[in-house]
Amino acid sequence: MRIQVLGVGFDNMTLDQAAAEGVRLMNTEGVHYAVTPNPEIVEICREDPEAAAAVNGADLVLADGIGVIYGAKILGTPLKGRVTGISFAQALMERMAGSDKSLFLLGAKPGVAEKAAENLRRQYPGLNIAGTHDGYFQEDGPVAEAIRASGADVVFVCLGAPKQEKWMRQNGAASGAQLLVGLGGCLDVFSGEVERAPEVFQRLGLEWFHRLVTNPSRIGRMMKLPLFLVHVIQEKWA
Ligand code: UDP
Repeated sequence: MRIQVLGVGFDNMTLDQAAAEGVRLMNTEGVHYAVTPNPEIVEICREDPEAAAAVNGADLVLADGIGVIYGAKILGTPLKGRVTGISFAQALMERMAGSDKSLFLLGAKPGVAEKAAENLRRQYPGLNIAGTHDGYFQEDGPVAEAIRASGADVVFVCLGAPKQEKWMRQNGAASGAQLLVGLGGCLDVFSGEVERAPEVFQRLGLEWFHRLVTNPSRIGRMMKLPLFLVHVIQEKWA
């Protein structure tokens, strides 16, 4: 049973449980996809039914963002903890390295996915990266076909929300992969283009604050966080 937070159902899992489930899905025939919604995405889903269907239709819905954890707690149905997209991706790559599973990196500006692939091959010796593609394409078909041709089992889809969730839902099957994971700006971090928040910020659940300070133009998007908390409190009172 998923834990509902404002219309999005979250799987109640630790990082290890989520990684084990990810490995199970990549070894299970057919297409599966995982999403990692934060409060901003929950708010998007409230306004966009197609986004909500794509998020709730995922095989794995992980709570990325401390706001979701607070929201679930306020609503009286606490989650075990946060599983950020980036930590989930890292846990999957640790388990894929040295196995027969291969990875495709999709998204971000031209050149970023290639740079991320270079770094990840160094960081995870034995990790098989079957291919990369930037995230600024016009037609979905040729991209899904490129993934299929690469033979990748797993795809990190980093197109931003809710584009990546919709993309996985619509094109997952055509990609031939077993598991697709929507990971927002992760390739920017893996490539070194964007610095991840220092560990103390991560531990305190303040990564959003670090992102805001280093990239103040995100302020508009981040206004969704207080709005999310207002909606949670309204729901609690209702
Ligand atoms: N992006 C993309 N294609 C698009 C729009 C965005 O590949 O059409 C990429 C963008 O370059 C960035 C990522 O998607 O690498 C979104 O990053 P953001 O930090 O907004 O995602 P978050 O992690 O906050 O969801």
